[in-house]
Amino acid sequence: NFSARRNIAEKPRVAVLAGPTAVGKGTVANAIRAHNPQIHLSVSATTREPRPGEIDGVSYFFVSEEEFLRMVAAGELLEHAIVHGQAMYGTPRAPVEAALAAGNSVLLEIDIQGARQVRISLPEARLIFLLPPSWDELVRRLNARGTETEEQKTQRLATAVVELAAQSEFDCRVVNADVSTAAQQVVDLLGINKE
Ligand code: 5GP
Repeated sequence: NFSARRNIAEKPRVAVLAGPTAVGKGTVANAIRAHNPQIHLSVSATTREPRPGEIDGVSYFFVSEEEFLRMVAAGELLEHAIVHGQAMYGTPRAPVEAALAAGNSVLLEIDIQGARQVRISLPEARLIFLLPPSWDELVRRLNARGTETEEQKTQRLATAVVELAAQSEFDCRVVNADVSTAAQQVVDLLGINKE
């Protein structure tokens, strides 16, 4: 029934985009943002230092550990996790709720621990796992990014092994061989009705 399908598609959805380090989650999310302004991209809070070019309030909300812990205690985060054993990351709850109330779908680009928490707090969320075309390509992308020290890269690849093993917990898998193809697949999974 076409009209029933339309109604489902028009309901704003939450999708989680997770996947291992350097798979290109941020690049895919930016491609989605550029072509689909009606999708709300959640901006996370983090205690890590900004990288060159990152803008507070756009890339992340860069906060102190003290402020992060206050947000956790106040229940202001939908999920939160320590990622790569280094910094704390979390999804502010209010902007997600505001976007859904305004009828906009929401995309969360978060890690796998966060995805597991969202599965519990928002069971209707669609969990998408972004995969590299191969392990060698993942290592190549991490090296090409050039933003991590050797020690950090080793740590991130160790995490990636564990993360790749979690892909079966996800509702759908998208291979990021080509950014615009992967971005379109994620948009399709969000069920955005462009009519
Ligand atoms: P990066 O430091 O490279 O920006 O991000 C490191 C990792 O943290 C990535 O896997 C990213 O998906 C994850 N991350 C970013 N924001 C959040 C968040 O709000 N919650 C969780 N759980 N993970 C996040």
